[in-house]
Amino acid sequence: MTNNHKVHDHSDRNMVFLQLELGGDRNFCYLIGDRQSGEAVAIDPGFDADSFNDIAKDRGLTIKHILITHGHSDHRDQADTLVQLTDAELWAGAADEVPGASDLGDEQEFTLGESSVKALATPGHSAGHYCFLSHGKLVTGDLLFCGKIGGTGSYFPGSSPEQQFKSLARMMKLPDETLVFPGHDYFGGEGYMPHSSIGFEKSNNPFLTAQDFDAFCYLKDHWADYKKEHGVR
Ligand SMILES: [Zn+2]
Repeated sequence: MTNNHKVHDHSDRNMVFLQLELGGDRNFCYLIGDRQSGEAVAIDPGFDADSFNDIAKDRGLTIKHILITHGHSDHRDQADTLVQLTDAELWAGAADEVPGASDLGDEQEFTLGESSVKALATPGHSAGHYCFLSHGKLVTGDLLFCGKIGGTGSYFPGSSPEQQFKSLARMMKLPDETLVFPGHDYFGGEGYMPHSSIGFEKSNNPFLTAQDFDAFCYLKDHWADYKKEHGVR
């Protein structure tokens, strides 16, 4: 490997699943590939397309598709460069207007040999936000972090707390054991938690234990106070 980036390897017998730290604002990037066919997708390729491509090559993978969770620059910074390096097709939610991207559809499946990755429309943090589900692992972008959620409000044009609330509720219908792989290393509790699970979030994430939409919005409005009170970083 030609870099010093941190790689969290969650691969199994059939699939390569790598969570990569490739710069930015503690951004996580993902490489998901099928061992047999060698076909792969890159999700939010981050700030170092060369390293991303080298890592894929080292694993014997060819990146066929580049999937963007949402249009904010820290998630698509080097997507164009990775397109040039790989000839892969770039995909994002239409509403986020990512230049050069084809439009994702809800429940669209990307087939990688015998394996697959499914796009799930999860608007809220941005209007065109998507999560990606592959064999029990959910890449959540800026919808959901470990113990936290993505921002909404005037700082994020096109964001909507109502839609975010619904998108979170939709993801919470996935099985509890589904692993959650967020777009940032933002866990604010004790220790280091680069991924969690739907079950963990359901019982520990204060936005998901909020009783209803009003309580959810109240917590958003008073998040700084909550963090101080509960020792969340
Ligand atoms: Zn974002």
